[in-house]
Amino acid sequence: MPNAIVWFRHDLRLDDNPALRAALDEGFTPIPVYIHAPAEEGEWSPGAASRAWLHRSLTALDADLRHRGSRLLIRQGRSAGMLRVLIEQSGATAVFWNRKYEPATQRRDAAIKQALRAQGLRVESFNGSLLIEPWDIATQQGQPYRVFTPFWRTALAKWRVPLPWDAPSQLPAVDAPLEGEALAALALQPRLGWDTGFWESWVPGEAGAREALEVFVDGALNGYRTDRDRPDRIGTSRLSPHLHFGEIAPWRITAELERARTAANSADMDGYIRELGWREFAYHLLHHFPQTTSQNLNPRFEHFDWAKVDPATLEAWQRGRTGVPIIDAGLRELWATGYVHNRVRMIVASYLTKHLRYHWSHGARWFWDTLVDADLANNTLGWQWVAGTGADAAPYFRVFNPVTQAEKFDPKGSYIARWVPELAEIPVPLRFAPWQKPDVLARLAPDYPRHPVVDLATGRDGALAAYRKTGD
Ligand code: FAD
Repeated sequence: MPNAIVWFRHDLRLDDNPALRAALDEGFTPIPVYIHAPAEEGEWSPGAASRAWLHRSLTALDADLRHRGSRLLIRQGRSAGMLRVLIEQSGATAVFWNRKYEPATQRRDAAIKQALRAQGLRVESFNGSLLIEPWDIATQQGQPYRVFTPFWRTALAKWRVPLPWDAPSQLPAVDAPLEGEALAALALQPRLGWDTGFWESWVPGEAGAREALEVFVDGALNGYRTDRDRPDRIGTSRLSPHLHFGEIAPWRITAELERARTAANSADMDGYIRELGWREFAYHLLHHFPQTTSQNLNPRFEHFDWAKVDPATLEAWQRGRTGVPIIDAGLRELWATGYVHNRVRMIVASYLTKHLRYHWSHGARWFWDTLVDADLANNTLGWQWVAGTGADAAPYFRVFNPVTQAEKFDPKGSYIARWVPELAEIPVPLRFAPWQKPDVLARLAPDYPRHPVVDLATGRDGALAAYRKTGD
């Protein structure tokens, strides 16, 4: 059988893998390859938490391949050059991969495709990660969408997803002379073991993704629409890192949901699929507005009066020492687990961009380094949405009040007590704003900051004044 390189990237799974499937369908022996080339991702090479996840996900992929008689070849170096070397060493006549959508990667992949085709190789790329690709839909005027609801209406009408495909239980063995590097050589794991706690709640890899989906369908899916906003409950699927690394295809998720649809859970299911739609929207925006990873989408903010960053204050935010309990809980959850609940992401982002008036990129960078689901499309959308600078964004003047948000979404204060244990003895509702009773705070939580790093009313007023200066 002729050889075909199957270049794995953010599609670290075997089932529902269109590139792998194409190689097999066309009678090739797939040579599964992962090439580590972080510098090619430009300013957005993977952060520390992503690298830690990647290490485990590659381990799982290699084990899954070996279980089927194949194996993963790991290499590092420039992707274009390394693919050429591999083609030479293996005699491969074809290269298949699933597409990525980050601007730097898109440019690289287009150049590689062109060069290899010019050499006479068969090169094909596939959609391995979206329900609808960014260029497949446009407004009636032929423009990209900037507003979610019409985007989603069109997407729902247009999307045609593949049927789930299970990889065969046996794969042809890779030719023996090909050698890969040891995974350890990529040095993906944090040196100081900062991520140790992550793996109590996460199992990277395809099996972990499928398990998370099953747990969700049997559990939190029922009641998703209300509980998805509650950080004190397990109300969401926690599939984001699995989706980011392509350990599960979104169309496998929708197919499994449809199989479980009942009259009782139908509205929850639609609500969930709509959230997957925000991911699709994020990719649509990233593709059509690639500059938005660092620039405001809304030009009104071009001359916005962002505050000068005070490093100590930024660090207090990063490490969960702001003195505002729900903010500190969220940022400590992030540090300990590589994840924060969506509602709390919004609250901490609002505090940074409005009360502190720091440019959203400071928060986006921190998330990039610490989230296991750090995803250029979703992170950019999330930060620009909260900051009010993006597409279909919450208006800048809508400033989240972290105290009322905590009262509403963590009504017993249990999420706060879990992540800021020094506040566990402070009764609710004082736990939401402990600075209001300095004597109680001093007695029950002597190590907790006495005051928020920025007073809530002062921060809010400052944000609104700066916004007014940008005019209409
Ligand atoms: P569920 O509620 O179970 O949702 C299912 C899936 O839908 C998610 O896994 C995700 O892929 C998608 N999704 C849900 N909400 C959103 C959303 N608002 N935008 C885009 N996709 C969504 N998500 C990331 O995957 N990576 C990021 O780097 C990221 N950064 C964010 C930064 C900020 C400031 C904000 C406000 C949100 C960010 N999000 C990001 C979106 C969202 O918080 C996470 O996708 C969600 O919390 C993941 O948990 P889940 O899988 O349990 O979500």
